[in-house]
Amino acid sequence: VFDKENGNGVAPIKQYRIALRNCGFIDPEEIKDYIEKDGYDALAKCLSKYTPEEVTQEVIKSGLRGRGGGGFPTGLKWEITSKSVSDQKYVVCNADEGDPGAFMDRSVLEGDPHSVLEAMAICGYCIGANKGIIYVRAEYPLAVKRLKIAINQAKEYGLLGKNIFGTGFEFTITIKYGAGAFICGEETALIHSMEGFLGEPTLKPPFPSVSGYLKKPTNVNNVETFANIPAIINKGADWYASIGTEKSKGTKVFALAGKINNVGLIEVPMGITLREIIYDIGGGIVNGKKFKAVQTGGPSGGCLTEKHLDLPIDFDSLTAAGSMMGSGGMIVMDEDDCMVSMARFYLEFIVEESCGKCAPCRIGNKRLHEMLTKLCDGKGTMEDLDLLRNLSVVVKDTSLCGLGQTSPNPILSTMANFYDEYYAHVAEHRCPSGQCKSFMLY
Ligand code: SF4
Repeated sequence: VFDKENGNGVAPIKQYRIALRNCGFIDPEEIKDYIEKDGYDALAKCLSKYTPEEVTQEVIKSGLRGRGGGGFPTGLKWEITSKSVSDQKYVVCNADEGDPGAFMDRSVLEGDPHSVLEAMAICGYCIGANKGIIYVRAEYPLAVKRLKIAINQAKEYGLLGKNIFGTGFEFTITIKYGAGAFICGEETALIHSMEGFLGEPTLKPPFPSVSGYLKKPTNVNNVETFANIPAIINKGADWYASIGTEKSKGTKVFALAGKINNVGLIEVPMGITLREIIYDIGGGIVNGKKFKAVQTGGPSGGCLTEKHLDLPIDFDSLTAAGSMMGSGGMIVMDEDDCMVSMARFYLEFIVEESCGKCAPCRIGNKRLHEMLTKLCDGKGTMEDLDLLRNLSVVVKDTSLCGLGQTSPNPILSTMANFYDEYYAHVAEHRCPSGQCKSFMLY
């Protein structure tokens, strides 16, 4: 079933392709395919018709917010960086996607790399930068290969390099590789890694828009954010702002995974309900089982349950429901899944990925993981439940960066929504779902 009104006319109903508009419809290794789909028109329009300020105002007016998880208004970020005075500025594309089960950015880079290059050049024009850097995971070899091909083709066509469209504007793009550390998705850690230092976060301010890569003003946006930009310029801010909700404009790409019939990438207008995603797009739960929960926001987010099925999916509603948008991971669980085990899985990931710079995150998350393991092994006590909740709050309140400040969210949200399961593990000596196998031996 297709909705010819949307995107390029082949978007499935309830989906709306903007960031993914070309993925699967063009040969990503052939620049002519991209150009045939209005590729580089937006850059030409910006350079020939509008001042940097006018383009920035258009992005502000569109209401686009950062898709990497933070949700900061993109145009405002560009405006702040444009006002930082310096002899050199940088545009950085954060392609260090690391949430378990998430592959939105990888798909854009593999399927439509030119959309990101074009957007980075537009950003460079707006903020006064002539150098762009893509920080991409080395574990994404196909994305890297296609980026390299795209950069070379854009140079050959005069769309990157000196005197683009004969306007005197110069912009080059290079690639730097990340080595798979989750924390390098945090912008200050990413910048340190790019500089050759340990990928550790630092306190903000100063923000990268004032002092970033090599201490120069740096605008960092993620892949999906950039992929929206050419469409906004081509179709106008009013068009973009007409999609979505009052405070969350446009669409969001999610990676649907877990116990759902239709797994894979989806792109939906902000404000769609969780029910529409799970049942109309996702095709419901595997084997007709009962929906139990969905984890959004990866290890930083929380779970949404049956009571949230009619919740509009946007930045603010998700936060109000105790979860977060994050970068777009959505892992669906059914009635057979144990929520204590699920929280333990995410804490295990965090313990592995914490950079270790600050004690609350380095030690606190380890203790939290140990307590969850104790519960899953059937050795927990009622005191452990109190300690689990209290230590979670302390780790949130005292950690240095976003990773530690959000890491206990899977525990707090599962305790808020499924306390009976935690209670059963301790007081009734049973795992209600039977998923904690070692528990049977207790
Ligand atoms: Fe590193 Fe965790 Fe502290 Fe962030 S909160 S600086 S990841 S130890």
